[in-house]
Amino acid sequence: AMGASTIEECARLLDMINTMLVISKTEAGVEKVSHDKVDIAALIGNACELFEPLAEEKNVGLRRRAPEKTIVSGDARMLQRMLANILDNAVKYTPPGGEVEISLSESEKKDIIIAIRDSGIGISETDVPHVFERFYRCDRSRSQPGTGLGLSLARAIARAHGGDITVRSALDQGSTFTVTL
Ligand code: ATP
Ligand code: MG
Repeated sequence: AMGASTIEECARLLDMINTMLVISKTEAGVEKVSHDKVDIAALIGNACELFEPLAEEKNVGLRRRAPEKTIVSGDARMLQRMLANILDNAVKYTPPGGEVEISLSESEKKDIIIAIRDSGIGISETDVPHVFERFYRCDRSRSQPGTGLGLSLARAIARAHGGDITVRSALDQGSTFTVTL
């Protein structure tokens, strides 16, 4: 008979295939991105609420610095998924006692800037250029669960909104992912 672990493995594979399809379609521009008025400050609030229990359990501080309300044009579901993927990483790759901070601001050119900063394990100089590639996982994070698709999807979503994501990091120095919309 099919054991529970086999069923779980199948579910994981299906989820992975589905994520790959969403990345490909988003990059190709065939995945429809709606242009609704989205309160990105509220989405950040939701995302923090979602990850708060996980962070607390791990003894990682989760802070948020954002205005009450900031409206962008975009797809709420996709933007939520983008934020969740980056926050998931920040909490996952930050050891107990560390800090994660998400901040929202507006540049002079009226770009929306979302910075997710963590005090975690960091990313080496040689890995930094590759973390947005599909299935890329740094050696030091292999002990954590994951498939290496989260950041590819996050970047595809940012780009589908006319934005982008960059990262600044160094080993043991934490990381800052910056989304510009
Ligand atoms: P998943 O598909 O479940 O998200 P993942 O987290 O391994 O798996 P990505 O989110 O795409 O994959 O990240 C790619 C790799 O980049 C990670 O495996 C990890 O090595 C590195 N990385 C991403 N975010 C961070 C971070 N905040 N701190 C340190 N390393 C990170
Ligand atoms: Mg991830």
